Amino acid sequence: MQAALSLGVSACLMGQPVRYDGTDRRNGYVFGHLSDFCLLSHYCPEVAAGLGVPRPPIQLRQGGQGVEVVMVHDPDQSVTAELDWACFRAEGLLTEIDGFIGKSRSPSCAVADATLFAQDGTSQSCDGYLVAHLRRCDRLLPVISDEQIVDTEERLRFFEMAIVHSWWRTQSPLPGAVFETLMRLSLLARGQRLQFANDESAETLAVRLAAALSQGITPQGHSRVLRLLQDEMAQRLPLNILDELAGLASAFEDGRLSRIQSLFALVELLEGQGLEDYLQLPYLLCARLGTY
Ligand code: SF4
Repeated sequence: MQAALSLGVSACLMGQPVRYDGTDRRNGYVFGHLSDFCLLSHYCPEVAAGLGVPRPPIQLRQGGQGVEVVMVHDPDQSVTAELDWACFRAEGLLTEIDGFIGKSRSPSCAVADATLFAQDGTSQSCDGYLVAHLRRCDRLLPVISDEQIVDTEERLRFFEMAIVHSWWRTQSPLPGAVFETLMRLSLLARGQRLQFANDESAETLAVRLAAALSQGITPQGHSRVLRLLQDEMAQRLPLNILDELAGLASAFEDGRLSRIQSLFALVELLEGQGLEDYLQLPYLLCARLGTY
């Protein structure tokens, strides 16, 4: 099967024996399932930093200048510069991935559940050093951990965002605001309620479409989306296109077109009307995820 998505993965989750104690954390879902339809690029920042295998474990510490990476057995021994180098090398990955799957609780690869120690002995949760860097470089990059990915909702949310990111990275230089609106649309399409407060980019049409898409998992919902498009586009599209749109909705309603056929016909219809990038994506997301 052709790889649809390109993702970065912590190397130990792919079965590479790169952990500090020389073991791996091969993950059955990532290695055995995702590799069938995603292009997976593995990376171990601690090996890339030259720390070797096996190596003494490291931890994150809040220093005066920001987060530092130090040895667990000797907190005065910093390897921050080495990890900075590994993060710098990982920036090349960002030109070719649409998401990152990190190892939970790792000081380097965790997603939100690494431990950051303060000088006074207290601690708080944060991203691992590499993941924080990737997010700073690409604030739209979806990230998820090996533990989060087993949760269906978290997983779908991650893939929706990754698919949108892929679209944005490889096919269409969408402005960030449009991209974020599309991400929200895709989430709304799954019935999640998100706030659009202070979001000037959430145009009326986007919000109404999102509302319709949130009900679009039923045939009636799909009809409503097609009819809504017809209404909303009344001022924007030529009459002949509007007629075809109406014909499409009727063909779906009386069973002459399947949902997928009508989606493709819709996309074809909107091509050349300057709307395809905007309207196609939520449909493609839903169709590709099998939730529509
Ligand atoms: S640094 Fe990341 S990839 Fe390397 S062993 Fe730790 S969790 Fe795995």
